[in-house]
Amino acid sequence: MIDLSIGPDGIAELRFDTPGEKVNILTEASLARLSGLLGELERAAAAGTVKGAALTSGKKGVFLAGADVKAFVTVAAAGDPAAASAKAAEGQRIFSRLAALPIPTVAGINGACLGGGLELALACVSRIASDAREVSIGLPEVRLGLIPGWGGTQRLPRLIGPGRALDLILTGRTLDGRRARKLGVVDAVVPAEGIALAARREAARLAAGGRVRRAPWDRLDRLAPLRPLVFAAARRRVLAQTAGRYPAPRAALEAVSYGLGRPLEEGLRREAELIGPLLVGDVSRHLVQIFLSSRAAASAGAAAADVRRLGVLGAGTMGGGIAAVAAMGGLSVRLKDVSAEALARGMRQVRALSSAAARRGRMPRHEADRREALVAPATDMTGFASCDLVVEAVVEDLEVKRRVLAEVERATPPACVFATNTSSLSVAAIAEGAARPGRVVGLHFFNPVEKMPLVEIVRGPATEDAAVEAALAVARRMGKTPVVVRDTPGFIVNRILMPYLGGAVELLAGGADPVAVDRAMTSFGMPMGPFALLDQIGLDVAAHVAGVLAAAFPDRGGETGLKLLHGMAQAGLLGMKAGKGFYRYPSRKPSPELKALVAAAGGRTDGAGGAPEPAAVADRLVGVMVQEAARLLEEGSVDRPETIDLAMVMGAGFPPWRGGLLRHADARGGREGSHVRRRFYG
Ligand code: NAD
Repeated sequence: MIDLSIGPDGIAELRFDTPGEKVNILTEASLARLSGLLGELERAAAAGTVKGAALTSGKKGVFLAGADVKAFVTVAAAGDPAAASAKAAEGQRIFSRLAALPIPTVAGINGACLGGGLELALACVSRIASDAREVSIGLPEVRLGLIPGWGGTQRLPRLIGPGRALDLILTGRTLDGRRARKLGVVDAVVPAEGIALAARREAARLAAGGRVRRAPWDRLDRLAPLRPLVFAAARRRVLAQTAGRYPAPRAALEAVSYGLGRPLEEGLRREAELIGPLLVGDVSRHLVQIFLSSRAAASAGAAAADVRRLGVLGAGTMGGGIAAVAAMGGLSVRLKDVSAEALARGMRQVRALSSAAARRGRMPRHEADRREALVAPATDMTGFASCDLVVEAVVEDLEVKRRVLAEVERATPPACVFATNTSSLSVAAIAEGAARPGRVVGLHFFNPVEKMPLVEIVRGPATEDAAVEAALAVARRMGKTPVVVRDTPGFIVNRILMPYLGGAVELLAGGADPVAVDRAMTSFGMPMGPFALLDQIGLDVAAHVAGVLAAAFPDRGGETGLKLLHGMAQAGLLGMKAGKGFYRYPSRKPSPELKALVAAAGGRTDGAGGAPEPAAVADRLVGVMVQEAARLLEEGSVDRPETIDLAMVMGAGFPPWRGGLLRHADARGGREGSHVRRRFYG
């Protein structure tokens, strides 16, 4: 897993290459091995038989992807913060031995160098990175509710200055080689092919008395008296962004500010002290769970299918977005629309995404241009004969979708998969009359496609495994997190969200103040309240989807709410797109027409129940979602509770720090919680 070789020139190479794995990670076993090899290096350095060392990777595109996240689960389960701190301190000691070697050490970063991987590299004298696209360097621990615990909060600020270090640690964002060089995280960028050799040469150069050439610190950081300003600004940002819900950014601030002006050892001790309670705390446990679920979802069926050529029908809001994201993922795309004007708009979406990718440094300009050119627009079926999978995103109309399916079947080879992006129609109904019903599957993206990470893959009664696998492959190429669900109205997210939104509308019809209801749900942690969300979805669309679900599940009640939605849609209160819905835009004040419409739908307008208790609102509306989620599991539409948790976090913005809808219910205990736990978590 880690090999040590010493060349005739006295330069050692520590090479990370975990056999049988695609990536290198730092497990307990690899740390023990590293510790042993450091012993050898210490002895060789003392004997004068080694003059310098390079740390390299044998994996393509990965240096060290970080610590073993699964190990966090074990540490958390033990529930002992002091033991968790001690674990971090063990790792710190190994890295400190690397840092204390009396010879120059150089990390040759050829790819992902994240978390513990970067902390290891930071313990080297110098770091060089390759110019490969795969290079991503950063400390993403806060995203898992943690802080870097193997010296990252101490060595990074000492290397690049506290301001820049805080930015990287608090956002968890990653850098390519060039940006890492600019900030001083790495000292040079070299061509990808020769990275291991370059690292050895650099170690030899430093051993011969050469000096490291490092980017200077930021001006604010260089002027020590200004540092309190840097920290105050970071503190304000953290408070604004986390609303006090995430403890890790605060702990990171504390670790960095404590370490400044103190000896490294004291800083390390404080870092270990701070990470212990985070590791065993709820927020990190929940975020780690969501991370592991999304990783498992993203690699589901990984080896099975490969899709290279995609057809997209309909270049509207969704089709244009799907084509753009697919092309950025390297798929070649045929984009068809009946309207040349729509096609031109769709192509503008593609251009906008490729420009953004280049501007934000995700890929070089020429690469973004090359990917943009992967989309070929057409108003006929030219090129569809070579498609592996066709996504339809035409208007939401069963007859049109069936017609389009027949057209696709005629124009494509027999193995081609037809994937519908329908939000409210049944995959089985669309596939009725299909020549190849086994090749029909649902591939439900969310709007806007480039931002929303979730894709629901819908398995109809006739859908073959190979079609599901092809859909998974497309989702993966597009960088989306897929969840598989049976063909049930609303699939997962809309099926659960609609009764929640309906519940909110019922509260309104019962006389509750919509502003108070929205505020209750944002303070619970939802990204926006139910009425703001309804306005964003559009009340005509919401009324339509709610109607479909009401027809499918007539026992759920909610007639007044549905009536109100229809009434609002008829009165032109369509939501944000019309400038008015539950709120007026841009003022975001409640619409004055609302009272009369509530009365017309048979609701109360006497002001009773005007300002409900926020916790009661959240309990009631979240309870509605939990019930629907339980039904999805009971009827077998979804395989596991984790799938629902992931879907609700990624598709509906359910607060990730609560671990997802069912985890939250489980943690809450009570009647619903124990029901969830008994039935689904065992
Ligand atoms: P849209 O109206 O923006 O785009 C539909 C496009 O399809 C139009 O450009 C139209 O010209 C084109 N079209 C119509 N008939 C066609 C045909 N026979 N061949 C090729 N193109 C044809 O609609 P949208 O919002 O992109 O929605 C498309 C689908 O995606 C619908 O099924 C919708 O339910 C679903 N969906 C929408 C959203 C959303 O938020 N907008 C989210 C998820 C799923």
